[in-house]
Amino acid sequence: MTTPRIRPLEEAVVNRIAAGEIVLAPYSALKELLENSIDAQATSIDVACKEGGLKLLQITDNGVGIAKDDLAIVCERFTTSKLRKFEDLQHIATYGFRGEALASISHIAHVSLVTKTRDSPCAWKCRYDAGHLDARTPEPQPVAGTDGTTLVVEDLFYNFPSRLHSLRPPAEEYAKIVDIVSKYALHATHVGFTCKKYGTAANDIALRSGMSQKERVRAIYGSAVASELLELEVEPRAEYGLLKCTGLITNVNYDNKKSTPPIFFINGRLVSCDPLRRAIAQTYGTYLPKGHKPFVYLSLELDSVNVDVNVHPTKREVRFLFEDEIVDHVAQKIAEVLANTDVSRTFLTQQLLPSPKRSATSDVVFSTPKKLRPLPSFSQYKRPSEHKLVRTDFAQPTLTAYLSQKTSVDGVDSTQSRTERAKVKLKSIFELKEDVEQAADDRLVEVFSKMTFIGVVDPRKRLMCFQQDVKLYIADYGALCYELFYQIGLADFSNFGRLRLSEPVSIADLLLENGLTDQMDEVVQVFVEMKDMFKEYFSIEIDDDAQNPKLATLPLLVKGYEPDLSKLALFLYRSGTKVDWEDEKKCLGGLLQQLALLYVPVACEDDGKMAELLETTICPLLKKRLLPNAELARDVVEIANLPGLYRVFERC
Ligand code: ADP
Ligand code: MG
Repeated sequence: MTTPRIRPLEEAVVNRIAAGEIVLAPYSALKELLENSIDAQATSIDVACKEGGLKLLQITDNGVGIAKDDLAIVCERFTTSKLRKFEDLQHIATYGFRGEALASISHIAHVSLVTKTRDSPCAWKCRYDAGHLDARTPEPQPVAGTDGTTLVVEDLFYNFPSRLHSLRPPAEEYAKIVDIVSKYALHATHVGFTCKKYGTAANDIALRSGMSQKERVRAIYGSAVASELLELEVEPRAEYGLLKCTGLITNVNYDNKKSTPPIFFINGRLVSCDPLRRAIAQTYGTYLPKGHKPFVYLSLELDSVNVDVNVHPTKREVRFLFEDEIVDHVAQKIAEVLANTDVSRTFLTQQLLPSPKRSATSDVVFSTPKKLRPLPSFSQYKRPSEHKLVRTDFAQPTLTAYLSQKTSVDGVDSTQSRTERAKVKLKSIFELKEDVEQAADDRLVEVFSKMTFIGVVDPRKRLMCFQQDVKLYIADYGALCYELFYQIGLADFSNFGRLRLSEPVSIADLLLENGLTDQMDEVVQVFVEMKDMFKEYFSIEIDDDAQNPKLATLPLLVKGYEPDLSKLALFLYRSGTKVDWEDEKKCLGGLLQQLALLYVPVACEDDGKMAELLETTICPLLKKRLLPNAELARDVVEIANLPGLYRVFERC
């Protein structure tokens, strides 16, 4: 028996393996070629491919071209016009720098090119094989041609069958090519781009060289994105090596569930940067409804000394010094821009007919109490100090100032108004939102984002049944609604529509009628003293009558859904007595909780009505807007999963 000997791998195999690390699929070869063309100062780049780029990938540019003398070596490893000495690695501004791309591609595909420099009388054509000029045509051939370079890559991975098998179908590979071209087209605005399938007339991408970035977004990603774009300009931070940072991001009004991962260019190259991606996702999480994804494009220029682009063979993943500081700085700016943007939203003001049972006591005039305890911290809320306040503009017009048309539908006045969304900069609200975010439970997020309502189990116990995937759940919808309405309250804080009671109702009467007389004076006083705050933050209007203040409006949390007014007195009472008025965060959070309680559907007998409400209103909201926390797991019980049930049935 002979002992197997360890032999060095054949050089060709080594090269092929190395090439496979750089070129993963047609789109990654194209990325290198696009970068080369942009480096060559092209202002026009045309891409064409056959079979998703596998059969043919052709890229034509009008750049500086390659000198005839260099043609013999451009496909050799470590030949690059961009790097002379090692130290240059640290000051390289162009995309390529290692001289590996063309060499690699020539080891796993048939590469040919036609190129012409400005001072050459003709163009030159040559073919390459495994890093060298092809033995069959060892000299460049003179041909007619225009300035610039056309590079053709044919039969990619022809000698790399395992890679060939791992590729996606041509249509998918082509989609990735279009995606890469789109991203470079978005970034390199001085360059015109086209991209199409070879032999077809229609371009899948066609952008003129002068087109602005916004126009490019519109052309590539559609008007829904383009019309909600904000321009971002982040202040440089030289001490961290951040020389420039600009970008385009969508505002909080952009609702899109399709995820387009953020596009980052660092020093002109398309890269992924996980820490930055995560920070941005978190920032948007506070503003967008759950599951909604922003569009983000950022271009960062960093001091090249700080950047290490060599960490990954495909140069996708970038590392840089002061990463945390720079990521924080950029994310903070985005948060600021989002918080400051006025976005228009449509509000509906509905009229409500509460007619709370007015007893004989209804005309009792509320008398000023004798022992009224002063409430020390109130003034703080009336005019919050600058740093706590978010929105400093108290003169901001109220919704009613925007009322445009009034129509009478079925005897109910429904008034629609379009208004600016008020900016909320209260630190406490940010913190409350953050708390919700932090507490989110991944598993439950998954369950609720894909839930389908099945039916009411018991309306008296507020139990419903829903399905997600192959699992069946029973849930306490009272508890779910409480969390849901709390979160809606938080998200729309200061921006609620209003429900107008058909007739303002005396707070004191309401409390008396419901036997809530303990601390009644204090409760009433809270609403008088905090009138401005209630109106501004909660759309709760108190009619101006210090003797007998009346409640005129309630916040409208969800269009078309009215809270059960039998709970109104309790809401007022608890707002006055159960809320900690000494601490801003506790106070606003507490009021939002009371509001949520008011909105939770009451236990009832009518499961038909409840089913309709759950199916048409509540469940879609749970799906779209609830960010469930782990505690809700107590209120949601998995009762069966279909595969399990099938197994049971099979045995029967
Ligand atoms: P790198 O870009 O890292 O230098 P490449 O293998 O991608 O390495 O390219 C090798 C060299 O070939 C480049 O440095 C450049 O001089 C030349 N080159 C490649 N593509 C083009 C092009 N489209 N126009 C002009 N020169 C090119
Ligand atoms: Mg290159």
